[in-house]
Amino acid sequence: MQLRPSQISHLPREASVMLLQNLYLLPLLFLLPLLSWSFYLSRKIRIRLRPKTIPLSVNYHFTRKCNYECGFCFHTDTNSYIAPVKDGNAALKLLAQAGMRKINFAGGEPFLYPGHLGKMVDFCKEILKLESVSIVSNGSKITESWIKAHSKNVDILAISCDSFNEETNIAIGRGKGTHIKQLYRIADWCRDYGILFKLNSVICQYNWKEDMNEHIARLQPYRWKCFQVLLVAGENDSDKTKRDVRNFLISDEEYEHFCRNHDKNACFVPEPNNLMAKSYLILDEHLRFLDRTGQCPSGSILGVGVNKALSSVFWDTNGFEERGGIYAWNEEQVRKKQEDELTTAIKTQLGASVSGSCGGPGGQSGKSADMEDIGVRPLP
Ligand code: SF4
Repeated sequence: MQLRPSQISHLPREASVMLLQNLYLLPLLFLLPLLSWSFYLSRKIRIRLRPKTIPLSVNYHFTRKCNYECGFCFHTDTNSYIAPVKDGNAALKLLAQAGMRKINFAGGEPFLYPGHLGKMVDFCKEILKLESVSIVSNGSKITESWIKAHSKNVDILAISCDSFNEETNIAIGRGKGTHIKQLYRIADWCRDYGILFKLNSVICQYNWKEDMNEHIARLQPYRWKCFQVLLVAGENDSDKTKRDVRNFLISDEEYEHFCRNHDKNACFVPEPNNLMAKSYLILDEHLRFLDRTGQCPSGSILGVGVNKALSSVFWDTNGFEERGGIYAWNEEQVRKKQEDELTTAIKTQLGASVSGSCGGPGGQSGKSADMEDIGVRPLP
């Protein structure tokens, strides 16, 4: 379009009027970059402040070697490597610095290396001052002299036993017929040397109908974990893997049947597959976190550090909380929990007595609340 001379003469005046009319837009020119910069900054700050995943409770499977041959084993004997004590302790120190409060030594069978295990246990308690040091073992290699030497540094000793019928244990692959006798021996040692005695059972096709109540009442474990047998891809899922769990699997209904028959025991802690599969944070023999979806493990925490290793694998922290991953895990905490339970029970009974004396139910028995009445078991 061609402008006429009369229009050209008016242009600077109109332009300045237009500029004045739109002056309010000027601050926006500065504000927009400022806003996007502060958005970027606040995002950075939020990321920095976001709570990192804290490895509160770690399972260190420091060896895969085992003297048993359980058919459902999912951490199988695929190599014989174990990290030197010096490296293991360095890794444990990093974990403690990252917030670890409980360590559980597992395998394979940890007591195939009693000296190695003893050094790490002592380091965790005496140097790192961890809240809880625990060991899971099949029990066959535990001696009283080891317990005596290290009991002050062990909070929990968990022994695996799936049946109180030795024929069943043999069929499963747990030992050659002396498993139950050794289990009772260890329960006694735990009581004698002040260690919390725990029992782990895998519920499978061989034992889901078994009634274990009588033995649980005699053994009095402080916790009895009953796991539904688990299939882990690449570890126990076919005839190509070292173990083949397929003949051991049970349905959810069969597992629930076992639970219904045993859930009156105060120590009973069921762990169905949906809670168990991905909720354990596992450090393997190479000091790597295992990815709980079956992807590649992290780098060694000695190489990449705890945070980077943790962020490169999946660990179901919600599942960890849902299955009660944090619990009373040393003697002091158990005692406190028992005292709290006792206080609550006494209050409840007193309340019932008062309402009973007013004609309400339950007030006429004249029975006082004691430990047995309310099912609180004394510590071993
Ligand atoms: S005792 Fe444990 S590690 Fe050994 S074979 Fe049995 S399940 Fe596997």
